[in-house]
Amino acid sequence: MPKKPATSFGSKPKKASDSKTVKPARKKPVNRAETGKDQGPAKKKAVKKRAVKRASPKVPAKAKSPRAETPKEAPGNLHGNLESVETPTQPEPVNSEQALHNVFLHEEVPSLNVVHISPEMAPVSKVGGLADVVYGLTQELAIRGNNVEIILPKYDNMRYDHIYGLCESFHDLWVPWYDGAIHCTVYFGFVHERKCFFIEPHSQDNFFNRGKYYGEQDDVWRFAFFSRAAMEFLLQSGKRPDIIHCHDWHTGLVPVYLWEIYEHMGLGNSRVCYTIHNFKHQGMCGGELLEATGLHRPEHYFDKSRLGDDHHDGALNLMKGGIVYSNFVTTVSPTHAREVRDMGQGFGLESTLQTHAPKYGGVLNGIDYEAWNPQSDKHLAAQYNADTVGKKYDNKRALRERLLLADNEKPIIAHIGRLDPQKGLELVRHAIFHCVNNGAQFVLLGSSPEPSINAYFWHLKNEINENPDCHLEIGFDEDLARLIYAGSDMMLVPSRFEPCGLTQLISMRYGTVPVVRAVGGLADTVFDKDYSHVELNKRNGYVFHEDSYTGVETALSRAIACYYQYPDHFRHLMLNAMKTDYSWNVPGQHYLNIYNHIRKK
Ligand code: ADP
Repeated sequence: MPKKPATSFGSKPKKASDSKTVKPARKKPVNRAETGKDQGPAKKKAVKKRAVKRASPKVPAKAKSPRAETPKEAPGNLHGNLESVETPTQPEPVNSEQALHNVFLHEEVPSLNVVHISPEMAPVSKVGGLADVVYGLTQELAIRGNNVEIILPKYDNMRYDHIYGLCESFHDLWVPWYDGAIHCTVYFGFVHERKCFFIEPHSQDNFFNRGKYYGEQDDVWRFAFFSRAAMEFLLQSGKRPDIIHCHDWHTGLVPVYLWEIYEHMGLGNSRVCYTIHNFKHQGMCGGELLEATGLHRPEHYFDKSRLGDDHHDGALNLMKGGIVYSNFVTTVSPTHAREVRDMGQGFGLESTLQTHAPKYGGVLNGIDYEAWNPQSDKHLAAQYNADTVGKKYDNKRALRERLLLADNEKPIIAHIGRLDPQKGLELVRHAIFHCVNNGAQFVLLGSSPEPSINAYFWHLKNEINENPDCHLEIGFDEDLARLIYAGSDMMLVPSRFEPCGLTQLISMRYGTVPVVRAVGGLADTVFDKDYSHVELNKRNGYVFHEDSYTGVETALSRAIACYYQYPDHFRHLMLNAMKTDYSWNVPGQHYLNIYNHIRKK
């Protein structure tokens, strides 16, 4: 029996009883049209699918008692051959590489009701790639004829200018919290055609009125509450999604709530797909969270087969809960899926992933080809496509003007990203000096929630900003990011680890040649000009392996040399990069196959 846990992780938030809380009476939605009563199967638009017969119907894995209910059949390899693969009739070894083939069986999938529950979505509440993924994937699923809705927190600092028709949709949502309940209002609005619900709690906890998205002491409580509120909203509004797709540690409790509480209240037909965008942050806390969330029975939840953290006694791990209780777990590239499970990069979750390997795999992210399109991007000085790539140089000039860089013949090498140690900041710093000393200009756009890291880069900026070949911009600025993607020649991504990475994908879309370290999704998407195993016309960048100054220098030097000495070759690389399809088309189908695999049939 697990010991009574100490609350050694995260801080204790105020109890809900400090807030205005009352036991709720279940209320009806205020506005039926916007709260799900209209959720008939969405009309299917024509999407071609290959129908392949399946040997036997799948029994969806149910996560309630995870060990006992590990799927009997091994589901399919997310990166196997997309062509017909017979469903294994015998249990396969616990190896998602070969075992997950049947997820790719393309049978006719009916229109599904899909609800994404996420802490972020571009462009309204974007911190990093997760926001882009939710934005792009949900649209792809909707285009394919599914009814897709997104539940988000209503942050005070959101980009409200991107929300159309924001209105109160569900007035009296009472969300159980400690021994009372917190009153919430749910708003509905369209974000570039996506149907979004925003949850606004009214309590002294002020969960989402902090002027920022993350980095608060009570983050675990904020998002545990959000997850509970999202589930309560589904219940009270009468929504009965086929698939609940949730993201990262923030929503790791969603499947836990589903199978421990809401299954018995009418949501028993929903199935959960859980996508992990970054294993580094797992949402750890002590046992008081169980009191807050109504997940009593500490001995049950602290069990190491459920939420009990494997390495910290007395800690609950929300991401682990998400893995254990979900029907399917993905991360955002095949290489990263292997790295975290088999190569010690799972930040302590390796054995959980091995236990649950039959329902685990990697699906490479895409990017939204409408949102990231150099041919229609209004933030550019000149729009262009692969046929008019010469116009990229108008953007280079505009970028130089904006950042007061010298107008010369040098290539511009850029880095855009969160200033997090994960991104290989030492190598970024080294590359800045290497580039300006070796005939290139360097532009950095980045910010960190960590004051000491920001201060470090401010210091660096002051040190080198006088150099006409270098500009560091510390902050988050999407408009500038777009001009950098378009106006640069190369994009450096020297990450220590990179689950997928979107910056290299966006760069390629804009004809900017990526120079990357061969980890995670970077290894899956960038193929070295000189040393790749892929055909010449698929090579699209420069890749180095070693996490060292020599590694990054060698790759940059090869790229800079090619730019000067073989401009035709460099142009080919740019065009190869632009022509590679990293849209949501293929990954969208993969997720639909997963949904179909786990849905209640
Ligand atoms: P991560 O999710 O680890 O932050 P990704 O490469 O997956 O990294 O996604 C980063 C996304 O955030 C990209 O869309 C990138 O353009 C954007 N981004 C990162 N930092 C900034 C910044 N300082 N200003 C504008 N956009 C940024």
